[in-house]
Amino acid sequence: MGSARERLQADLREAEGELQKLDQRLEQRPEFGPGKGNPRAYSWEMELARRKRVMARIDALREALAREREGAYGSCERCARPISPERLDILPTTTLCVSCARAATSDPAFRSADGAHGAIQK
Ligand SMILES: [Zn+2]
Repeated sequence: MGSARERLQADLREAEGELQKLDQRLEQRPEFGPGKGNPRAYSWEMELARRKRVMARIDALREALAREREGAYGSCERCARPISPERLDILPTTTLCVSCARAATSDPAFRSADGAHGAIQK
């Protein structure tokens, strides 16, 4: 699974690059002065929300790389069956196979356990 590691590392580098760019832009925080609804302030909030998503992605990619090192990458966390390569191609950081992910999205008890569920619904 050398190619999975390379892909995860490339994705991680990309996400870290994006985080750096966002941080540079976020340093220039606009003045929240009298002009309410300042479009720059609005986009600053957007960048902040985007930064959170990039951080979550970096965390997920680091976890996936850690699993890859342990030889656990590509196995379902819940049923231990292999996750299909097609699924890993779309969701490289997923920890659940298709059937467990489906069960997770319809079962609220598992919803919080599957960090990737938001991406599945896209
Ligand atoms: Zn499973």
